[in-house]
Amino acid sequence: MSSIILEARQIRYRYPRGMEAIRGISFHIRKGEKIALVGPNGAGKSTLMLMFNGMIRPDSGIILIDNEPVSYTRESLRSLRKRVGFVLQNPDRQIIAPTVYQDVAFGPVNLEYDEHEVKEAVTGALRYVGLEGFERRPPHLLSGGEKKRVAIAGVLAMDPDILVFDEPTSGLDPSGSEDIMELLDELHHQGKTIIISTHDIELAYPWADRAILLLEGRILQEAIPDVAFACPEYVRQAHLSMPILLDLYFELEKRGYSLPEKKPRTLLDMLQVIDVAFKKTPCPHGNPGTISVFDVDSSPHDSLPGWLASHQGVPVGAMGTRAKQHAADNNIPLDFTYGVIDKCILRAIIGESSLILTSTGMVRRVEIRVIEFDNMSGIRVPVRFMC
Ligand code: ADP
Repeated sequence: MSSIILEARQIRYRYPRGMEAIRGISFHIRKGEKIALVGPNGAGKSTLMLMFNGMIRPDSGIILIDNEPVSYTRESLRSLRKRVGFVLQNPDRQIIAPTVYQDVAFGPVNLEYDEHEVKEAVTGALRYVGLEGFERRPPHLLSGGEKKRVAIAGVLAMDPDILVFDEPTSGLDPSGSEDIMELLDELHHQGKTIIISTHDIELAYPWADRAILLLEGRILQEAIPDVAFACPEYVRQAHLSMPILLDLYFELEKRGYSLPEKKPRTLLDMLQVIDVAFKKTPCPHGNPGTISVFDVDSSPHDSLPGWLASHQGVPVGAMGTRAKQHAADNNIPLDFTYGVIDKCILRAIIGESSLILTSTGMVRRVEIRVIEFDNMSGIRVPVRFMC
């Protein structure tokens, strides 16, 4: 089990002339975890997260980063803000400079990187969020999703270990939300610890490793999502609703179907539950289809057009910013842009092949998810890496 990277011990906080927003909270977060802080408006999510990088100092109790209590001297706060990156809910409040480049450079300049290091950090961060070529643009002319990416790039430019996102998808359309959630997955896959606040339970449920339910400045529940969101009483108290897949699972259970113990977190999981409940053959069409994987960072680019020409009609999905960029640059229409591995497995089960474009860092994720599925279902979905 990985080490504890962030811990809160009995913290309390009252806003000046306000009510007590945090009323005795303790928890810990391990390195590499994906955590969702969930609760209704006013539960204390933002206040709590502002404590993670020292923007709010608790009245009592302590916050520890890597087992070291946070200290509030100017120097300590500076190094803390390099370790813990905070992306505000509203990018207009985070973006301050007249051009994208200057805005993303703000952190590295403040940390006194030299000119070359600043350029490298900004270029790398913009490339990561898919905004290469946006350097000279004025941020206020960008779309909501692009602004969000600029704000994220500004944080990534300092290469923090912990990334905190206050309501990362608020104000974005469904496709913009999916893109941001996938970016979070990509960052997580690179070893970052990610903490988000949200009241969108459908978003938190499949994504998080652990959910912390907050209500009126206290922790109501802290557990893996299928436990945290499974108690109707807690969910009601927190003015939330049960995730639809979990709700459906319990309804099937109440009707006496014998179900696998593992609760469904994705559509693919749910189909497996249904197959078990209704004693269906999981792969009714004979052999499963093949999932081909093209690594946009290292597979030879000239092999792709020929492959696509000889596999017309095969659905294509792209995972990650660079893969999506590659598809756009090469006019490859995408059938799947989120939940790509599961969607391709769903196709494979009905005998259809598919292609996943991805980056080197994410290739392993395809392998892991397919093996997990193979073990659960007993079906062996062939995966072919194009190299
Ligand atoms: P959430 O992020 O879950 O919506 P917040 O952390 O924003 O919750 O708010 C927690 C409580 O603190 C609420 O009762 C809110 O009204 C209060 N609060 C938040 N910001 C301030 C502030 N600047 N001054 C006074 N009270 C505040």
